[in-house]
Amino acid sequence: MSTLNSGILPSSREVDSIHDSRNGPKPPKNTGGLRLSLLGTGDAGGVPLYGCNCPACERARLDPLFRRRPSTALVESGGTRVLIDAGLVDLAERFPSGNLAAILLTHFHPDHVQGLFHLRWGTGPRIDVGAPPDPEGCADLYKNNGLLTFQRLQEFSPALFGDVTATPVPLVHSKMTFGYCLEAGSARIAYLCDTIGLPPGSVEFLKQWRPDCVILDCCHPPLERRPRNHNDVRTALESADAIGARRVILTHVSHELDLWLMNHAGTLPRHVAVGRDGMVIDDRNTEPSR
Ligand SMILES: [Zn+2]
Ligand SMILES: [Zn+2]
Ligand SMILES: [Zn+2]
Repeated sequence: MSTLNSGILPSSREVDSIHDSRNGPKPPKNTGGLRLSLLGTGDAGGVPLYGCNCPACERARLDPLFRRRPSTALVESGGTRVLIDAGLVDLAERFPSGNLAAILLTHFHPDHVQGLFHLRWGTGPRIDVGAPPDPEGCADLYKNNGLLTFQRLQEFSPALFGDVTATPVPLVHSKMTFGYCLEAGSARIAYLCDTIGLPPGSVEFLKQWRPDCVILDCCHPPLERRPRNHNDVRTALESADAIGARRVILTHVSHELDLWLMNHAGTLPRHVAVGRDGMVIDDRNTEPSR
């Protein structure tokens, strides 16, 4: 199994590590392996949060590097490009028609599907959208699906999208939610968002599967009471330990967590880093650049 290098430094130096996403993700340079680009690492409100003047939001207004857009990630292997979630609302500009092999949805909350509401009315090749078998979906997406073809995926049942194999694992959230165990060649990345903790079956699967890198929900700074829908720093680290994760990148980050991190630099374990929009995780020893 290859070791994935997330192209990141320890969390206290996280800022040095970011690819610049302003020109969109670059295509993969090699034909093997797996490359995951975090395009949106914010919670539903994003950073900066509308109307908030906290230091984390003010920082994000001054420097786009610190902005957090809605949940979206791009997985690439060979010529295959698969989107994980569709929180970004400018997908039509980022991904020309025919560019994506599929879109995988973790769940049907608006901050993960809102980009589909515009994309569906396009023309050209249909887009397969793999999703949990949620009978409700979101608003009228099932009824007026346009060029989207929804596929109901099954937990622990691998599905092949071009060169990428995705195995759904159930998560714990207020809506039916899947994480995805993504595999190409010998590279493995687990994308686990949105969730609070992990169900025992998913823990067992992930322990056996041994991902090179885990992208993990962490919305909140450490809270006094166990949160209900998203991890705080404590429950995220508990989950990471439970599955024996060797490298962890936190996502679905709120402005409160960014503010906490500003005041607690260097407190996360060395194998845990905070995701940023534009961060790339791949199996090459490339030094990221701003
Ligand atoms: Zn704020
Ligand atoms: Zn959600
Ligand atoms: Zn969410």
